[in-house]
Amino acid sequence: MITNRRNFIYLLTAGTTAAFFGSVTKSSWATSVNTPDVFKLPPLTYDYNALEPHIDAATMKFHHDKHHAAYVKNLNVAVNKYPQLKTKTVEELLKNIDKLPKDIQTVVINNGGGHLNHSMYWQIMGPKGGGAPTGEIATAIKTQFGSFDTFKTQFNEAGTKLFGSGWVWLVRSKGQLKIVTTKNQDNPISQGSYPIMGNDVWEHAYYLNYQNRRPDYLSAWWNVINWTEVNQRFGKSLKA
Ligand code: MN
Repeated sequence: MITNRRNFIYLLTAGTTAAFFGSVTKSSWATSVNTPDVFKLPPLTYDYNALEPHIDAATMKFHHDKHHAAYVKNLNVAVNKYPQLKTKTVEELLKNIDKLPKDIQTVVINNGGGHLNHSMYWQIMGPKGGGAPTGEIATAIKTQFGSFDTFKTQFNEAGTKLFGSGWVWLVRSKGQLKIVTTKNQDNPISQGSYPIMGNDVWEHAYYLNYQNRRPDYLSAWWNVINWTEVNQRFGKSLKA
């Protein structure tokens, strides 16, 4: 009973959609009891203040420890209902949304997406980042966009124009680099594109430091980009 009650409170506080909450049945609760969680919050590999002054420590702490943690928690609640899904990676879940049980599709899009997006976001940033791109991505950006400055301008414009919450991405799609935006926590892999790098333009990513000045955050973000990691992701996109 205690566990069930905990699960109940957990579901109530998870902030998931009405569709998900409405579909929770007694039998699925029973399945979730004592099932170990498969998805974990990856630790930040640098200090909360490591990206200052571009991204402040308080934003990093809330963003990682509260926002990302909540996506992981909610994803686990959904997947724990269907133990056969627990062998899947978050990428596999997001590439096959239509094959998932209907009652968890939206939860996985939002929270699986939130987990995958943020896991990338922490990695493609870092202390001593920024500057011009290096390696193969530098050449690929130049080929596709003409110059790094043109790419940066187009990326920032796309992020500025995105209405509401979402992400701006550099993806590889059908053999080409493209700038795209997604709403909410949607990840481009659900549309068959490979996300090479992406910036979070939810207000929680910048509001403490930049308030309504999203363009200032978008500009500053380039100072913390970890081009080594972006190059690794670009390499993976070529094989995907
Ligand atoms: Mn975020």
